[in-house]
Amino acid sequence: MPKCVRCGYCCRVDLCPYGKWNEETGACTHLEVQVATPKFTLYRCGIYAQIVAEDRDFASPGFGRGCPFEYNEDRRELLSQHTWFDLWGHLT
Ligand code: SF4
Ligand code: SF4
Repeated sequence: MPKCVRCGYCCRVDLCPYGKWNEETGACTHLEVQVATPKFTLYRCGIYAQIVAEDRDFASPGFGRGCPFEYNEDRRELLSQHTWFDLWGHLT
């Protein structure tokens, strides 16, 4: 599976079982901005710790499913404009 760069696409198009749709934002209610720089924005799951505490096998909730989607421009754009080096420090 490709490395997640936290573009947030997964949680805008295909919510995990813990997700809750937010009509206003067009994304899961729990999707949060992790890092906002003038060049890019990265996202995280706001209830990740809670999910993992309830379900240890659900290691990467939500994030992880959207990379292969043909119409996922968010990840493609992020990686076309920035190197792994730019993003790496924010992905841990
Ligand atoms: S991983 Fe978190 S933010 Fe994403 S859909 Fe699931 S609950 Fe929502
Ligand atoms: S589409 Fe890929 S890079 Fe983007 S949040 Fe989902 S798993 Fe991460």
